[in-house]
Amino acid sequence: MQRTANVVIIGGGITGCAVAYEMAIRGVKDIVVIEKQYLASGATGRCGAGVRQQWGTETNAILARDSVKRFEGMNEELDYDRDIEFKQGGYLMVAYTPSEWEQYKKNVAVQHRLGIPTKMITPQEAKEIVSHLNIEGLIGATFCQTDGHANPFHVVDAYYKAARRLGVKFETYTTVIDVKRENGKVTSVQTSKGDIDTPIVINACGFAAGTICKMVGFDLPLYPQRHQALVTEPVEPCQGPMVISLHHRLYCQQSPHGSFIMGVGDPQEPKDFNIHSSWEFLEDVARQATTVLPLLKNLRVVRQWSGLYDMSPDANPIFDEIPDAQGMWVAAGFSGHGFMVGPQTAVLLAQKILGQECFMPIEKFGLDRFRRGELLLEPAVV
Ligand code: FAD
Repeated sequence: MQRTANVVIIGGGITGCAVAYEMAIRGVKDIVVIEKQYLASGATGRCGAGVRQQWGTETNAILARDSVKRFEGMNEELDYDRDIEFKQGGYLMVAYTPSEWEQYKKNVAVQHRLGIPTKMITPQEAKEIVSHLNIEGLIGATFCQTDGHANPFHVVDAYYKAARRLGVKFETYTTVIDVKRENGKVTSVQTSKGDIDTPIVINACGFAAGTICKMVGFDLPLYPQRHQALVTEPVEPCQGPMVISLHHRLYCQQSPHGSFIMGVGDPQEPKDFNIHSSWEFLEDVARQATTVLPLLKNLRVVRQWSGLYDMSPDANPIFDEIPDAQGMWVAAGFSGHGFMVGPQTAVLLAQKILGQECFMPIEKFGLDRFRRGELLLEPAVV
């Protein structure tokens, strides 16, 4: 028998699960989330878990700032029976080149306008925050104490449980094969376990969002790109904040359990779906990490993995209804920061789809910006 739903959400990462909750808490009944593997099996469960407000575009900074407020109260808000492990140890963003430092000054001006309490500090002050930081050649740093990190598996679990209590159904190990439309409107979703008639489809498929859009004949300006990360053996706590050096393409934090999680971006990485791990990454990250944080040179690596960034042309997300497929919405293109902005992404999308007043203008994230050539180029991406 053909099933029906008021809303079908494709993708069970932070975006899909949080949107499910935000729609359900606003009174929408009969919501189904379809996930082709297990919840958080995509980029969300492979991410570096970092949450920072230190962005260079207002759009990312507002989403991140307001999401931090949500992370702070998430255990209570979602009545979570575990702990999302949100720790605000800060983010220390270090500048080793003059151009980086100039950019950081501009970024901090944006952040201050939005009330984000970032400080510009000297190399010596940076070393007081992270004693093993290499300050040779360091020009300056920015530090925001209310940045931090959270456990992505627990955050998704918290949204999942809260949404389920509100009646949302989750179907895992179920793949969306096609999305049908008639007269320019979405009508149904075809899955590996049967079809569901629905007037609203939310494409929260991250790196695969383009594949879903192709099902309705739309070419989404988005490509997948591999990013690799590793975790080390746990050691005594010695680093409070996440350290980011854009010059070294590095991010590195110590988790509450003592292990270090780090990654480097590779600008040569092809635009494809490859998620195999590589030896080259290990060598690259070891070189960059021990340059910036020499004390880490004796740490043993426990595990490495990779995942896919969903890259939009300007590293700002795309939130929009798909042309000629009325009822189909996309929330993707998060680059390396979809986890940290997940809570407010979900609010914004739910408000827009339900015709409520949006807490910030969603049009800024629209597809039309690419046609107009008015990109929201984010300068602070690793
Ligand atoms: P995803 O988590 O990718 O979820 C999409 C889901 O859709 C997947 O589970 C997938 O299985 C499912 N799906 C795909 N196709 C189909 C289909 N046909 N049918 C059904 N389901 C389907 N962000 C941060 O904020 N902080 C960080 O520190 C950070 N570090 C990162 C480090 C790495 C190595 C990587 C790879 C990413 C990192 N990110 C970080 C980015 C962040 O992980 C993503 O932006 C975010 O998780 C995107 O969430 P999502 O729910 O939109 O997509």
